[in-house]
Amino acid sequence: MDHDIIAAISTGLTSGGIGIVRVSGPGAVELCAPLAELKGRSLKEAEPNHLYYGKIRRDEQLLDEGLITVLKGPKSYTAEDTVEFQCHGGPFVLKSVLEAVLARGARLAEPGEFTKRAFLNGRLDLSEAEAVIDLIRAENELARHTALAQLSGDFSRRIGGIRAEILEKTAYLEAALDDPEHYSLEGFGEALAPRLKALKGDIDSLLKDSDKGRVLTEGIRTAILGRPNVGKSSLLNAFLGFERAIVTGIPGTTRDTIEESCRVGELVLRLLDTAGIRESGDAVEALGIERARRSAEEADLILLMLDGSAAPGPEDEALRALCRHKPALLLLNKADLGLAADPATLGKAWDLPCFAISAKTGAGLEAVTAHIRERFCLEEIRQQPLLVTNLRHKALLEQAVQSLSLALESLELGAPEDLLTIDLMDAYRSLGLILGEEADEDLINEIFSKFCMGK
Ligand code: GDP
Repeated sequence: MDHDIIAAISTGLTSGGIGIVRVSGPGAVELCAPLAELKGRSLKEAEPNHLYYGKIRRDEQLLDEGLITVLKGPKSYTAEDTVEFQCHGGPFVLKSVLEAVLARGARLAEPGEFTKRAFLNGRLDLSEAEAVIDLIRAENELARHTALAQLSGDFSRRIGGIRAEILEKTAYLEAALDDPEHYSLEGFGEALAPRLKALKGDIDSLLKDSDKGRVLTEGIRTAILGRPNVGKSSLLNAFLGFERAIVTGIPGTTRDTIEESCRVGELVLRLLDTAGIRESGDAVEALGIERARRSAEEADLILLMLDGSAAPGPEDEALRALCRHKPALLLLNKADLGLAADPATLGKAWDLPCFAISAKTGAGLEAVTAHIRERFCLEEIRQQPLLVTNLRHKALLEQAVQSLSLALESLELGAPEDLLTIDLMDAYRSLGLILGEEADEDLINEIFSKFCMGK
């Protein structure tokens, strides 16, 4: 681990009332002292955790005046000695203060490096560090609630509790294998099985709502499927044109496509393959079933759109087949032209909730979004104290469940105890990786590279 002094602007590079230059590392106070002119004392004599008014100078040149704080490790964000300059929040002022610090020998911090140090110094575990970035990125109440619960350590404690029990059982097994005279395995298996089931159940309960939680914090990946000209891009525009819609271009998760996301109240829809929808507005373009299939596979929600003013055809039936294993809604568009089929009857026949809408007038869209909100259990999810939304955590929890299942199988089959310890230790390690124990450098670097500068 590096022990040099790092510095960065922690408040972003847009103008604001206040901007903070943060400096962290052993010797940070001494490094910054010549830059800070406090009334009647040197920065080296400043009391930790106090705000001091002072001038910030580089040699003779006045750079700014502001409030300066010294935080002594381990009682700081990074657990190292830290100086924070609260400057006037203009990019020029902040850059000149940062440059002055760098000129004294500090190194520009990499994105997330302050938090990485907090992790490496043991002040945060990896899941808590990940919660920091989730919190910064939170775009709705649920995402914030989830990130804060994780940051407070609730999740880590729950995982830690499960690990501790696994370790205890494994340790006893190992001891008994090494020293059968003093440690008996008589009845051990019978007692162990219900405990392993309980631990597995505990992890399962964490996993239960994870998909729902993820779609609510990240947005529901939504595929709009339909023949050319049924009104897909009109629907897209209607969604994006919602009163409080926010349009962002974010790279598609698995393909090189642009996703647009729109927010309708608490509901965030990430509209998949919008480029494909826009391109295929041309009636000559083929159905693009392969493209539709890929979107359907990636989606959390499928909106299957028909031209409601005409009877469904075989091409519609082909698209319907893509909706079998996913939450899907049938939308009869162009209701303003009069409907060829009754929505309730068609919905029943196709076994899909069916809505008459008009992408042109917006009629019926409220009912569609209300249905989606209910379908994804927004209210219910909000009540959950702990929600696993991080895909890395989810995958590791699933691995742990699998290892515990194998251990239970071994127990039932009466397999040798050393096999059992292998599975138990696998579960222990998977859970440990969530907290960052034994995590390798690549993983750690990858996680922190997603952070923003100055955090
Ligand atoms: P796409 O090929 O599925 O993306 O379909 P478009 O959104 O390009 O729409 C095809 C045509 O249908 C356009 O002329 C739209 O103006 C029209 N259209 C779309 N939605 C409606 C609607 O709700 N009512 C009516 N009357 N026309 C619509």
